[in-house]
Amino acid sequence: MKLYDTLNREKKEFKPIYGKRVNIFVCGPTVYDYSHIGHARTYIFFDTFSEYLRYKGYEVFYLQNITDVDDKIIKKANDLGVDPFEISKKYYNEYIQDMLKLRVNGVNLYAPATFYINEIIDQVKRLLEKGYAYVTNDGVYFDISKFPEYGKLSHQSLDSIKAGARVDINENKKNPADFALWKKRKEGEPFWPSPWGDGRPGWHIEDTAITEFHFGPQYDVHGGGSDLIFPHHECEIAQMESVSGKKPMVNYWLHTGLLTVRQERMGKSMGNVINIREILKEVRPELLRFFLLSSHYRSPVDYSPESLDLAKQSWEKIVISHSKLKSLNAKESEPVFVAEINRFRKEFENAMDDDMNTPLAISVIQSFIAFVNKNMEKFSNLDKESALTFLEDIDRIMKILPRNDSSVEKFIEILLDTRKLTKEKKLFEISDYIRLKLRENGIAVEDTSEGQIWYRI
Ligand code: AMP
Repeated sequence: MKLYDTLNREKKEFKPIYGKRVNIFVCGPTVYDYSHIGHARTYIFFDTFSEYLRYKGYEVFYLQNITDVDDKIIKKANDLGVDPFEISKKYYNEYIQDMLKLRVNGVNLYAPATFYINEIIDQVKRLLEKGYAYVTNDGVYFDISKFPEYGKLSHQSLDSIKAGARVDINENKKNPADFALWKKRKEGEPFWPSPWGDGRPGWHIEDTAITEFHFGPQYDVHGGGSDLIFPHHECEIAQMESVSGKKPMVNYWLHTGLLTVRQERMGKSMGNVINIREILKEVRPELLRFFLLSSHYRSPVDYSPESLDLAKQSWEKIVISHSKLKSLNAKESEPVFVAEINRFRKEFENAMDDDMNTPLAISVIQSFIAFVNKNMEKFSNLDKESALTFLEDIDRIMKILPRNDSSVEKFIEILLDTRKLTKEKKLFEISDYIRLKLRENGIAVEDTSEGQIWYRI
């Protein structure tokens, strides 16, 4: 498998540090508001990535931090006159609910920054001891002039960063581009005691304290949206490589392209933020996943209702074929298509192995669906089983087939039996009514030579 590494700007053969064990860290959200479809874009990709590695037999540990102390959280809490922890607790919880609805369940551990204050203080202490940081009257800062490689991830020279840094009103800093490791307490802000007085962590240090605690100074994959390359991830490298003296901190830096809405950046000031919970009122999570995975993770994705509708047409074809295949009365005969099905599987794996090329993998799935539709009537039991196993493996990775709930399924079957009876008695008004009501509730019914089949849309 090959992965594109932002640091080296090339696709590299994937080789974990500890054999089959893979340690992945992805930057989690700052929990001060509901999560939006930009978050969905990034987290659905990394969920799929972690599931694909599991499918390939890796033992994955996927860790994600939660930024639960930060300027934005404090500002919102102050505006509303509530405790900042009330805000962060609420939106952390809402975030998890949204992720579960999106079937993002590949994460092994969510690590809120405030659970790691001791580790953060300890890392800042070591940076000071080694001379990479200095104390001012408002905090502790990392001295970027001590880390000449600062800029290597975003491919900028230290000089150009220094020149480009906004002249800060903070005159205590040696260089405007130096960044805070620890911020001394200000009125109305949460704080923890430290050797430098009461205060709270800077943003970048939480991630390296968390990853050092769980993975040590070096690990396999670090991910996040491409907006985080600079300065956030650059600062993480500076902190961790300085404190440990080991390079590289991470072997593969993976960054997702950002999601835009109708070609515009999504943001509160633009008034075009689409929250996950809003879109899920109208769109199945599996369709949203399919839509987002139809673009390569490194490319930007543009959302519009029209582009989603277009994706829906291809997605439905997969869902319908899967349903038809499940209810197929296959023959008890020798299998004839297994080798061909395995060829499709190989093609799918090749696409995913090539830097997680999900759009190519989806086009393989589409060709496979066309093949199934053409040949299904000739399938033996083993052909059917092999095709279903392939689709279900794809679903384990991408989670694009609507999930069935067995208790609901029973009621659907009862309604379909009733529909069959009414048709036999030529009570077409009632049978049509049942079909219409099911459709209105996201269940499509089709009459086929095998009888009625249904699927979720
Ligand atoms: P934040 O809550 O802004 O700290 O973002 C959490 C994660 O979501 C980061 O990895 C961001 O890069 C990612 N993210 C935020 N907005 C978008 C977007 N519009 N498109 C893709 N990823 C995003």
